[in-house]
Amino acid sequence: MSVLVYLENWEGQFKKNTWEAALYASKTANMQGTEAIGVVIGAINESAEDAGKYGLSKVLHVNDAALASFDANRYAQAFAHLAQENNASTIIISGTFNGKALAPALSIKHNAALLSNVVELPTNVSPLTVKRGVFSGKGFNDLSSTETNNIILFVPNSIPLEEGSGAVNVESASFASADEKTVIVESVDRVKGKIPLPEAERVVSGGRGLKGPENWTMVEELAEVLEAGTACSKPVSDMDWRPHSEHVGQTGIAIKPNLYIAIGISGAIQHLAGVSASKTIVAINSDAEAPFFKAADYGIVGDAFQIVPRLTEELKKFKAAN
Ligand SMILES: Cc1cc2nc3c(=O)[nH]c(=O)nc-3n(C[C@H](O)[C@H](O)[C@H](O)COP(=O)(O)OP(=O)(O)OC[C@H]3O[C@@H](n4cnc5c(N)ncnc54)[C@H](O)[C@@H]3O)c2cc1C
Repeated sequence: MSVLVYLENWEGQFKKNTWEAALYASKTANMQGTEAIGVVIGAINESAEDAGKYGLSKVLHVNDAALASFDANRYAQAFAHLAQENNASTIIISGTFNGKALAPALSIKHNAALLSNVVELPTNVSPLTVKRGVFSGKGFNDLSSTETNNIILFVPNSIPLEEGSGAVNVESASFASADEKTVIVESVDRVKGKIPLPEAERVVSGGRGLKGPENWTMVEELAEVLEAGTACSKPVSDMDWRPHSEHVGQTGIAIKPNLYIAIGISGAIQHLAGVSASKTIVAINSDAEAPFFKAADYGIVGDAFQIVPRLTEELKKFKAAN
């Protein structure tokens, strides 16, 4: 028996999400008294040996031409093959865009239960029991699986990253893909020069209360001093004030940063669905009755146009003095 983990790479590079998944897997394997093995699919341009710092016992690398770009079906096929070869009953996947596509396809191919939206390490391994976010983040449930094979799809930023030492062997694994329908990537639009939202530890977000796109400079300045990503509410991206890649909520990206600052956002349930898992929420709103204040840890009632520049100035002074 073993635990297998998907070590996702982005154009050959590993990111914080990858190592969080590795650590999640090794901690789960410890609880099960077994080993955790990493799986890398596609070409990489850095070594996966670092997986040893997060407790994996080895890494299997499948580098087949047919797997050069992400394709949920083919990746699931390769993964299921390795899961069978390594007698893996538990598979760990981080809930990134690709992870969310891979997990259901793999659950079919590996005949595994899919435990999705998991927000922390398993609370028990016999039977496998996890805590999941439900009702758009408004509640949690504890789910126990009685299946032999299980996939845990966890929400990124669910566990703090701890780095140990050591390196692991990276072994090449072969896999001849069957002729399944593939996804052909024709072009990729990339958000450049910013902290990607799903992995941002701090996020500064603006809503319709900011009146227009010309007022986003203050959001960006606050984000810069906090080394944060920027986000927005749905109407803001619908009106093209900001790109859709920044839209968070039920129909946008779900995030779980350590700090979420909501400026001029009312706090509608659909918005909260994507941000309420944030560890600390600060709401800035001129309306003391705005629903966001019920979800926030800290609230500032007042005009964002006065508060945000002052907050940025104070943070700059604080950083300069420390
Ligand atoms: C099916 C469905 C899915 C949806 N999905 C999403 C989603 O994923 N994400 C999402 O965000 N929304 C989503 N919505 C829309 C959601 O219901 C709200 O309409 C939206 O979140 C409101 O955006 P907002 O808070 O920016 O704007 P508003 O509701 O207009 O709120 C603006 C806020 O700014 C405050 N304000 C005004 N001036 C100032 C000032 N000077 N200083 C400080 N505060 C000020 C106001 O008091 C107000 O609270 C969805 C809706 C539906 C029906």
